[in-house]
Amino acid sequence: MTHAVSLERVSCVFQSGGRPLKAVDDVSIDIEPGEFFTLLGPSGSGKTTCLRMIGGFTAPTSGRIRIHDAEVGDRPPYLRPVTTVFQDYALFPHMSVLDNVAYSLMVRGVAREQRHRRAQELLELVRLPDIGERKPAQLSGGQRQRVALARALISEPKVLLLDEPLGALDLKLREQMQGELKELQRRLGITFVLVTHDQHEALSMSDRIGVFNRGRLEQVATPTELYERPATTFVAQFLGAANVLRGDEARRLCGQPAAMVRPERIRLGAAEGAAVSGSVASLQYFGAFWRMTVARAGAAELMVDLGLEVARPALGDSVHLHWDATALHPLQEAA
Ligand code: ADP
Ligand code: MG
Repeated sequence: MTHAVSLERVSCVFQSGGRPLKAVDDVSIDIEPGEFFTLLGPSGSGKTTCLRMIGGFTAPTSGRIRIHDAEVGDRPPYLRPVTTVFQDYALFPHMSVLDNVAYSLMVRGVAREQRHRRAQELLELVRLPDIGERKPAQLSGGQRQRVALARALISEPKVLLLDEPLGALDLKLREQMQGELKELQRRLGITFVLVTHDQHEALSMSDRIGVFNRGRLEQVATPTELYERPATTFVAQFLGAANVLRGDEARRLCGQPAAMVRPERIRLGAAEGAAVSGSVASLQYFGAFWRMTVARAGAAELMVDLGLEVARPALGDSVHLHWDATALHPLQEAA
């Protein structure tokens, strides 16, 4: 079977102050053609290094990388069927937008008129038909982002690599661009590999997500699988809010050493038949819901999200918490 990108037991070790640092640790992933695949994890977890190895900017210390079934080995970036959009966009400030977009065609010796015609088509694709004459400094952040995309797409890569492409944008624009990027990928049908530390971004755009923790890949799954059935406590807590139950309590409730229940799956109810009981330690307004923390003697606090229609208890009140059996999900402890 043809994979768009295949990493087989890839590691990358840097020398950091004379000591080896495993930035990427024995990672294997198969990314399918046309897939929107996201590398998600906290800062320093190895996402960028992984992307740079696919793009050819960093060499793996060990392991194999294949792109559309061809082993890329130590092929330089320009000999791989991939293009990278870097976090800072790296537009040329002295060139017009049209020349920026046409840059890779110019390098390949495509005639001026022809490359400008193609660049104009790409500006239309990213919905910026009228700014070809401007300089990058005259653009907004969102426009610069789209110009960088147009410039990357003009060389018709099979795989587009994007490192935190929306990181410089404010929240409103970022959410809008998430939709646009996903829609663009769907229309083009090419493979996108995106790096982000933002769980919302990953959940809303991706077909599948690989979660990184300290250089290791903890889990690869679809957004709903990751959110509803995380494999480890790390994944459970990195993707949204999670109450992690451990030890005797987890064993009593589900027969496992650890388990999680999401705050929005917990209801208030009667003392009888309650999974756990405690007292209200805090109430915080989130707009769409209230988040309550429930303190318990000798056990961890729990978060409970209450819909606006639910009668709220007061601080210090005793409360009894209920959830469906399906809301409790067993977890492995991360190694
Ligand atoms: P992320 O993109 O998830 O934030 P990176 O892949 O950039 O993480 O970095 C992973 C780890 O490797 C970090 O500890 C980082 O400091 C280290 N690192 C990255 N690039 C280099 C380098 N060129 N030399 C030494 N250490 C590096
Ligand atoms: Mg990074």
